[in-house]
Amino acid sequence: MNISKLVIASRNKHKIGEMQQLLSPLGIEVLSTADFPELNEVVEDRPTLKGNALKKARYVAKETCLPALSDDTGLEVEALNGKPGVYSARFAGPDATYEDNVFKLLNELEGVDNRNARFRTIVALVDGDEEFTFEGICNGEIIEDQRGTEGFGYDPIFRPDGYDQTFAELDGSTKNMISHRGKAVENFVKFLKEM
Ligand code: IMP
Repeated sequence: MNISKLVIASRNKHKIGEMQQLLSPLGIEVLSTADFPELNEVVEDRPTLKGNALKKARYVAKETCLPALSDDTGLEVEALNGKPGVYSARFAGPDATYEDNVFKLLNELEGVDNRNARFRTIVALVDGDEEFTFEGICNGEIIEDQRGTEGFGYDPIFRPDGYDQTFAELDGSTKNMISHRGKAVENFVKFLKEM
């Protein structure tokens, strides 16, 4: 497989920024959905991260006639049997903000001793008829109060294993080095180099 240009199937500025940094060693042209204003929003209605990731990448690859790379991520909390998982974006309701979701999660974990959690990302590559998926996991715990201003989403309450800081207290390149998204994209980059 010879890819010289791809489109990140996302409008999330934080995600695009992280993925562009992670893909920079490939030396290829990296566009995103933001470069194609005519594209529609893809409804993430599949019951799995893999299903949503493939749905987004398939749509963007078809519409742009370019290889598309998407990411779907969930925060899986052990004491909540893996919730919010695939519903992480709308944990507190259909129009929930990052803040709403963080508050709901902190409320649900009030008084709970087991704070173990993991972020899980599925990255999907769709290039014509070819489809591949790559997984990345980052283990850690949910702390009791928000800390830090970097990153997005649940970053202020997620402390990755081996670190005292939350993702929102770490700089972007450290987060990328150890994160779920970083590991999934690393698997994708390894795959491309091997092909
Ligand atoms: P998405 O469906 O992949 O866009 O992600 C679902 C939700 O997970 C987002 O709305 C964020 O709240 C959260 N999320 C995804 N990636 C991250 C991350 O790297 N850090 C913190 N939260 C994230």
